[in-house]
Amino acid sequence: MSHLCYKNYVNGRFMANTTGETFSVVNPATGKEIYQMETADNTVLAAAVKSARQGFKVWSAMDAVQRSRILMAAVVLLRERNHELACIEVRDTGKPLQEAAAVDVVSGADVIEFFAGAAPGIEGSQQDLGRDFYYTRREPLGVCAGIGAWNYPLQIACWKSGPALACGNSMIFKPSEETPLGALKLAQIFTEAGVPDGVFNVVQGAARVGQWLTGHPGIEKISFTGEVGTGKKVMARAASTLKDVTMELGGKSPLIIFEDADLDQAVSAAMLGNFYTQGEVCTNGTRVFVHEQVKIAFLEKLLGRIQANIKMGDPMDPETNFGALISEAHKVKVLSYIESARTEGAIQLCGQTCPDLPLENQGGFFLPPTVFTDCTDGMTLVKEEIFGPVMAVLDFNDEVSVIQRANNTPFGLAAGVFTNDIQRAHRVIHQLAAGICWINAYGNSPAQMPVGGYKNSGIGRENGLETLRHYTQVKSVYMGMGPLESPF
Ligand code: NAD
Repeated sequence: MSHLCYKNYVNGRFMANTTGETFSVVNPATGKEIYQMETADNTVLAAAVKSARQGFKVWSAMDAVQRSRILMAAVVLLRERNHELACIEVRDTGKPLQEAAAVDVVSGADVIEFFAGAAPGIEGSQQDLGRDFYYTRREPLGVCAGIGAWNYPLQIACWKSGPALACGNSMIFKPSEETPLGALKLAQIFTEAGVPDGVFNVVQGAARVGQWLTGHPGIEKISFTGEVGTGKKVMARAASTLKDVTMELGGKSPLIIFEDADLDQAVSAAMLGNFYTQGEVCTNGTRVFVHEQVKIAFLEKLLGRIQANIKMGDPMDPETNFGALISEAHKVKVLSYIESARTEGAIQLCGQTCPDLPLENQGGFFLPPTVFTDCTDGMTLVKEEIFGPVMAVLDFNDEVSVIQRANNTPFGLAAGVFTNDIQRAHRVIHQLAAGICWINAYGNSPAQMPVGGYKNSGIGRENGLETLRHYTQVKSVYMGMGPLESPF
C-alpha cells in the first residue's frame, strides 16, 4: 500500500477524517496503486456543509467584480501550473499527456475565465405597474454540490465550480473515486487565489458520499456528471428536498456522413469522436452512419489512418496519442461489448491485437481502437453506450430514414453531420434530437457554447451564458407606492 495519502479539503485546508478509512487510486496505464485517499466520513461531510454555508455568506455578500478578480487569479494559477496538473490527470485517468496538456486544464481555466467575466454583468429587471412597480433580483442559490465523472476530472470540477462560484454560490465537490486528485489541486488553487474558506470544499469517496450530498437538506443544488442510471438515482433522491439539478449524462450520438462530404475531414471527425481519450468521451459519435456510395472509400481512409497515426503506449510519452482505459473492470465491460458485436454478426475491421507496450505499461488497461462495420440498428453495440474506443459503422442511402434512425435512441446528447450542401446540413441538424450538434466539425466545446443533453442525456446546460440561469434564482420584489387596497 502506498504511503502517500491525501485528505479531504474543507474550509480552506486539508481535513483528516476520524474513521481512518481510505481508498486506493490506481494508475490505469500501469495497473499499480499511486496513492491512497481518505474517504469523507460523517464528520468531514458535516464540516463541509457547515463551512460551505458560512463561505456562502461571505462570498455572496461580495461585489461581483471582486469575486471575478479572485476567480481570474485562479485562472492564472491554473494556466501557470498546466504541466503539473496535466501530469496528475494523466496518472489518474490513463489519457495521453499530449491531450491533457493541450485540453484538460486549459478548457477548465477557459470556463472559469468566461464566467468570471460574465457574472458581473448579471442584472435584474424592473417594470412599472401603473402607480406601483416591481423589480427582480438574480440571486445565487446557496450551497451547490458537484458530483463528477472520471474522464475529465479537473475539467469537470472547473466547469461546475466556475459558474457556481461566479454567481456567488459556494460548492462542495465530489470527484469520481477513480480520479480524486485534480479537484483537490483546484481547491488549493482557489484558496491561493483568495477564494474565502468554505466556498469550495472537496469531499472524497464513492456512491455513499454522493448519496449523502444528494439527500442533504442544507444543499440547494446538485450538478451531476455521470451515467444515465446514476443520474436517475441522483435526481430521485434530490427530489426529496426539491433540489435544483443539472444532469450531464451519457450518450450514443450519431455522426452522419453524406456522399458529398469531404471524406478526409469526416474521417478526422470519426476518429476524434471515437478514439480521443480512448473513446471515453460522453459526446462521442459512436454510431457512424456513412452513405453507401462512399462507405468503401471512407473505411479505406479510416483504417489507413488508424494504422499510420494512432500511437498507443505510455501516456506520459509526448508521442503517445492513445492511452489506457480507466480500470480493469471498465476494460472487461468494453470487451464484453466487442464480444457481443462479434456474436451478433458485425464485422471487426481492426482492434484484434494490442501493439507491444513498454514493460512498465504491460499491467495497464489498454485496448486498441476497434472498428465494426456491417452494423445494424438492433445490435447491442449500436444501442448502448460503451464509453470505450469502439466505432460502429452503419450504412444509409436516404436522408429521411437516416434522421429517423439517428433519433431512434433514448439518448440525445450530441450529433454531427458532414456534407457540403449547406441547406441539407441545417435541415438535418434541425431534425436531430440532440443538445450539442456539429456541422463539418466534431467535439469542439468552447466555453461560450452551452452544452447538455436532450432526452435521457441530461437536464440543464453547462457553459455559455445560458448556465448563469442554472446557478441563480429570481426574486421578484413588488413595491406598493400608495394605499393598500383591501376588503378587510
Ligand atoms: P458514474 O455514474 O458511475 O459516476 C459518476 C459519479 O457519481 C461518481 O463521482 C460516482 O462516485 C458518483 N455516484 C455513483 N453512484 C452514486 C449515487 N447513487 N449517488 C450519488 N453519486 C453517485 O459515471 P462514471 O463511470 O464516473 O462516468 C462515465 C459516465 O459519465 C458516462 O456515462 C459518460 O457518458 C458520462 N459523462 C457525461 C458527460 C456530460 O457532460 N454529459 C461528461 C462526462 C461523462
